[in-house]
Amino acid sequence: MSGIHNADVPEQAGDQEMEKDRQGGPASSMKAGGGLFIISAPSGAGKTTLGREIMKMIKGLRESVSYTTRKPRAGERDGADYNFISREEFVLMAGRGEFLESAEVHGNYYGTSRKDLESILAGGEDVILDIDTQGARQLKTKAPFPGAVYIFILPPSLDVLRQRLTARNTEGEAQVVLRLQNALGEIREYEMYDYVIVNDRLDDALERLKAVIMADRSALKRVDRAWVNKNFNLSKKEVFPE
Ligand code: ADP
Ligand code: 5GP
Repeated sequence: MSGIHNADVPEQAGDQEMEKDRQGGPASSMKAGGGLFIISAPSGAGKTTLGREIMKMIKGLRESVSYTTRKPRAGERDGADYNFISREEFVLMAGRGEFLESAEVHGNYYGTSRKDLESILAGGEDVILDIDTQGARQLKTKAPFPGAVYIFILPPSLDVLRQRLTARNTEGEAQVVLRLQNALGEIREYEMYDYVIVNDRLDDALERLKAVIMADRSALKRVDRAWVNKNFNLSKKEVFPE
């Protein structure tokens, strides 16, 4: 697909961040901007489940809502699970350069809106992008977000993956076979990621995912240096003059 562009994430205002923190926002008062977590997995590994549960556990974390040409599953809501659009609309959006990344996955188009993502990050919240390995590679190669954290979710085995996909009962048999066929190709990409989490027991996987997100919030790259300088008056030589 065409229409993939680099993006400049707006600088965040330190004071705005501190206010967010007081409201139980995403980070310590030193946080300089919203963090980006890119999560991929073969279909059925549990990415959606993990994403839903982690959002209940961590404040100030949101999932970006992708655009897709896939038909909604039972219970999926337009604008909440995905923005469901036609292939024609998708191609038009791609042509206008509205997608930060986009890919054809299991026979449908999927893409991340640059504008939507930037507006969440500009609000200072952390964002999870649930995208496939092609999309993750596009973001890595173009590096519009150098501080992004790449996380790969593995099922405990291919057998379990098959069982989960079948038990979910959301796809016809042909889609299940296609998704299983594509699984190995996606798993082969795992070395592109910073973290690999095996989703065997859900609680364990959630704990690890939470640990990765919380650790990143305290990473040096996210320190708001202006806030540290101001708060501790670092430009002055003597803090407590005699
Ligand atoms: P994905 O979004 O990666 O395609 P889902 O989150 O839809 O996968 O999970 C696929 C199926 O497996 C769902 O029915 C879900 O309830 C189930 N599932 C997810 N994680 C686990 C787990 N750790 N143990 C058992 N079942 C799980
Ligand atoms: P599903 O149809 O099961 O919801 O998703 C199928 C695949 O599409 C998953 O691997 C999911 O991560 C991926 N996907 C969802 N949204 C996007 C997106 O915006 N971009 C890309 N590249 N992949 C996406």
